[in-house]
Amino acid sequence: MIGVKEAVATGGCQCGKVRYALYVPPERCHVCHCRMCQRATGGLFAALAGAPKHTFAWTEGEPAVFASSNLATRGFCRDCGTPLSFSYNRPDAHFYVTIGSLDDPSAAPIERQFGIESKIPWVQFRDDTPSEATGASPQAAAFFVGMQNNQRT
Ligand SMILES: [Zn+2]
Repeated sequence: MIGVKEAVATGGCQCGKVRYALYVPPERCHVCHCRMCQRATGGLFAALAGAPKHTFAWTEGEPAVFASSNLATRGFCRDCGTPLSFSYNRPDAHFYVTIGSLDDPSAAPIERQFGIESKIPWVQFRDDTPSEATGASPQAAAFFVGMQNNQRT
């Protein structure tokens, strides 16, 4: 863990069988309104806090994982169902935990909104936060062009 032994942020699932630690302050905190994040969390959007993959560790138990597409994996507690993590499969991608599963969600203020094309109209959520549609930038469009979506609907 990059020479740092103390966890900066910790969290876990509702039943407590899966616990994790971030060894850096949460980075790139954001919400995503896309349909995949809505379905995966059962919520109106996913709220995610990131860390470089080598600065994150599961500390108790381990999550079940669902490959929601060929590009990304989502972790959840197999016992209580709490959505816990999201990460693109690329080694340089950040590892994200659900902000609601952090022990102190207030320590992960969001910086940006994504998936704005699917934002539920009556959700008024930090609308002053910079926003973008999925695949809106040329880099994002190039990344998503090969995505095979494993979500049923
Ligand atoms: Zn659990």
